[in-house]
Amino acid sequence: MIIREHCAPGTPRNPDGRLPRLAWPQGCLVQWGERGLVFGPSGGEDKIVAFFEAFPADPQTFLRGEGETVEAAELAAWFQWMKISECPGHSFETRGSTNGGGFCRHCNLFASGVFPASEDTRPLEAQPLLARLFGGDPTAFERALEGLDKLIDEPPAPPSQ
Ligand SMILES: [Zn+2]
Repeated sequence: MIIREHCAPGTPRNPDGRLPRLAWPQGCLVQWGERGLVFGPSGGEDKIVAFFEAFPADPQTFLRGEGETVEAAELAAWFQWMKISECPGHSFETRGSTNGGGFCRHCNLFASGVFPASEDTRPLEAQPLLARLFGGDPTAFERALEGLDKLIDEPPAPPSQ
């Protein structure tokens, strides 16, 4: 288990030296917080909860547990991890995702790159904002950011008059 730097014991966000309570596997990155924002349903209230996030390396995935306390959130993430660990055999389905990612029907594991990425055929307003902006090209967003960095570093000369 690797604790993210900003959660390390003795840092301003962890002055009490909190450590995860459960035996997360080797190479699994973990982080947590007392106050995570959860967006409410459309028209509903957003709420603030404690959260615990784990990024296991094998299989590579992302787990997030939420709860009244960080301990409860860690336990919620742990139950997800146990379900994945005890899966009889992953069997993926897209659940409407078109970016190549899939979810296991048995344990709910999310894995990227298990399906060929395809054009998003949903109406434009139903597609995620980044896909709308960058047409599903996974490198386009990074290239756009690089372009912005370059503009900041080397602003174009003002038009001559
Ligand atoms: Zn599975």
